[in-house]
Amino acid sequence: MSRKSWSPRSLAAQAMGKVDAVTKAVVPPIHVATTYIRDPDNGYSTGFVYGRPHNETTHEAESVLAMLEQAEAGALLFGSGSAAATAVFQALSPGDHVVASKVMYWALRNWLMTEATRWGLKVEFVETDDLAALQAAVKPGVTKLVWAETPSNPLWTITDIAAASEIAHRAGAKLAVDSTCASPVHTRPLTLGADIVMHSATKVLNGHSDVIAGALCAREDDAFWNRVKTIQKGQGGILGPFEAYLLMRGMRTLHVRQERQSASAMALAQRLSAHPLVARVLYPGLPQHPGHDIAARQMENGFGFMLSVQVTGGEAAAIATAAHVELYKRATSLGGVESLIEHRASIEGAGSPCPTDLLRLSTGIEDVDDLYADLDAALKAGHA
Ligand SMILES: *Cc1c(COP(=O)(O)O)cnc(C)c1O
Repeated sequence: MSRKSWSPRSLAAQAMGKVDAVTKAVVPPIHVATTYIRDPDNGYSTGFVYGRPHNETTHEAESVLAMLEQAEAGALLFGSGSAAATAVFQALSPGDHVVASKVMYWALRNWLMTEATRWGLKVEFVETDDLAALQAAVKPGVTKLVWAETPSNPLWTITDIAAASEIAHRAGAKLAVDSTCASPVHTRPLTLGADIVMHSATKVLNGHSDVIAGALCAREDDAFWNRVKTIQKGQGGILGPFEAYLLMRGMRTLHVRQERQSASAMALAQRLSAHPLVARVLYPGLPQHPGHDIAARQMENGFGFMLSVQVTGGEAAAIATAAHVELYKRATSLGGVESLIEHRASIEGAGSPCPTDLLRLSTGIEDVDDLYADLDAALKAGHA
């Protein structure tokens, strides 16, 4: 069987099959050197010059992610998801117009509203799941970037990536997708027309809540992608080799984790929909979710590990429910093997589109019956 026909699951399990040349170790060593010896003729025949732009461990992790995302122009790892995302905006020019999802990762929305505008970007927020609203917001020749998060935090609205990319491209803009909560197991935005994919690799790509990392993947090795690369190397927002190694270890099990986590999320969404103390479940896998039909088209292997519930009894009952979990951990972040619960409105603050009765649930790999029993008990205690 030729290597070319191996599936992403097979290639990821073996981190592209790389072994150590000296020992034949199945796990390549972590390269820690910050500098490399020059040839006697003053050249660098290896291509490795200095540790900031050149680290083999980081390059290996980038090649695994580029394979998973089918990124023809490759992947770049950053010191965090935020460093990755902001590099895309910094690659634009003062005066450029940006259209971004209204429902998105709150810290990036805050950065766009404050810092990005100081750099001269004009940022407009729309519901990118509403294609007519997106079309109306995009200005031909002026809009340079459409930024869509899908499924988007914390309502899990779904943006139609193929349709959004057509709208962006007709106006001469690029489409970048924050695909953190889909992961390449469920969606590969570059194959649907997106130009750039961003990940907080802190989340499910690593999967063990022990690395802060970010990534960008690109379809085309064009001038814009080269500007992003220049910004990464020049500003030094790189990922260190230990973190890159941990991320690569995490990506070896991405498929099995994701399939379990998504299957459990679907089961929880269905069971919680029938719970008397739950007013509404937000999960794209449920037929009543407004984005379900598009999700069914652009997601595979399930609908992701994230869901939210709106509880009966409002904000106080939501906070009290979160106070009573035992197996779920009350914490921010998502995508790890341990399940997390969070009252998002308290962290997002003023201007957040997040309802106050909402609890966000990140589904881990624990026994799904245990997870349901924990939520059921917490809902009852929180409403007592
Ligand atoms: C966490 C997160 C980010 C930010 O990533 P960091 O690694 O924390 O900087 C961006 N987008 C989404 C959807 C996230 O969940």
